[in-house]
Amino acid sequence: MSAGHASAGTTGDSTRSVHAGQPPARAYEPSLPGPVFVSHYHLPGEAAGPYLYGRDENPTWERLEQAIAELERPGGAGESEGAGGGEGAGGGEGGEGGEAVTLAFASGMAAVSAVLLSQVRAGQAVVLPSDCYQTTRALRERLESYGVEVRLAPTAGDAQLDVLDGAALLWLETPSNPELDVCDIRRLSEAAHAAGALVAVDNTLATPLGQRPLELGADFSVSSGTKALSGHGDLLLGYVTVRDPRLAAGVRAWRKTVGAIPGPMEAWLAHRSLATLALRVDRQSANALALANALLDRPEVTGVRHPGLPTDPSHAVAAAQMRRFGSVVSFTLPDQAHAERFLGALRLTVEATSFGSVQSTAERRARWGGDAVPPGFVRFSVGIEDAADIVADVLQALDAAAR
Ligand SMILES: *Cc1c(COP(=O)(O)O)cnc(C)c1O
Repeated sequence: MSAGHASAGTTGDSTRSVHAGQPPARAYEPSLPGPVFVSHYHLPGEAAGPYLYGRDENPTWERLEQAIAELERPGGAGESEGAGGGEGAGGGEGGEGGEAVTLAFASGMAAVSAVLLSQVRAGQAVVLPSDCYQTTRALRERLESYGVEVRLAPTAGDAQLDVLDGAALLWLETPSNPELDVCDIRRLSEAAHAAGALVAVDNTLATPLGQRPLELGADFSVSSGTKALSGHGDLLLGYVTVRDPRLAAGVRAWRKTVGAIPGPMEAWLAHRSLATLALRVDRQSANALALANALLDRPEVTGVRHPGLPTDPSHAVAAAQMRRFGSVVSFTLPDQAHAERFLGALRLTVEATSFGSVQSTAERRARWGGDAVPPGFVRFSVGIEDAADIVADVLQALDAAAR
């Protein structure tokens, strides 16, 4: 099977990650052509398309967008590994193996705001999770200043169901960052569509190999590519994947007018990183579970959360809709000082915000304010180091912090 076709839909996640978005193999050409740095294209006479101006289109973005669309679109490999449960996503159009369009953005927030601000108008209502990524919640003020009503409800227990009435857009984030609650995407999508609302899912934590929101009925899958998708902590990027071409056109027009475009170098680096996505996410998920289990044995640690933990309150829903549970483990130490001693005593793990990198990182989340978490709450992003080394580092740091 030649490159460029291997990703066509029936192959496994690792195979698709390696081949996604690569052009067909051609003699003496690289498998992934280098980044195209360009602002203007030559436009002789009345020439029109495919490339007119660097803010509108770029072949390096297009290859990345093609790759992400292949991973995010409904159907394809690994189907029904999670319960996923049944056909015909609530979204109606398309079903198994549907097509999808991805648009890349300068950052996750550029992608989040592109959907929120392009899809709702003054007088309409948006439902946001009260516990989602705090910068997404910060858009509330902007939306309200434009005359959009913003309603908040927690992720856990599908509580957003209760405030859907008359809403135009339902925003989900599952698992939520940083508290790792999970909601039932299919159930919420069906209810939202019945109420006439569109559904967007922030899929950053899961990545498309952990969960495919469009297959579960959502209209938009939105992500920060800064995190696990690119996975090396070396770039910022975002994307929106949509099935409905009209919705895609609206998001594309937004990107053009706002100009929130990715740099070609970032797009290329992210595409290059996709080849190892399955390896990274598999290892991170396994390592995260090992760490979560080790933390359960520590008396000073409370509230250990990871959707892959069989005892986690989110596990049943997560197991039904996710195929990999992601890199993040959260837990709480007795107080701020204890958490700071712990973070300071880590040797392998870097104290940093963000998550999903090949390198383990951790932070005391309350340092930023804005999240309803205790002062000793730690968000730990597990890297691809050896599980035994990560666990040993955490245990020695916990010992040091207890003294
Ligand atoms: C980081 C993050 C974002 C924003 O992404 P940036 O690339 O930092 O702009 C959005 N949603 C979630 C869940 C995130 O973790």
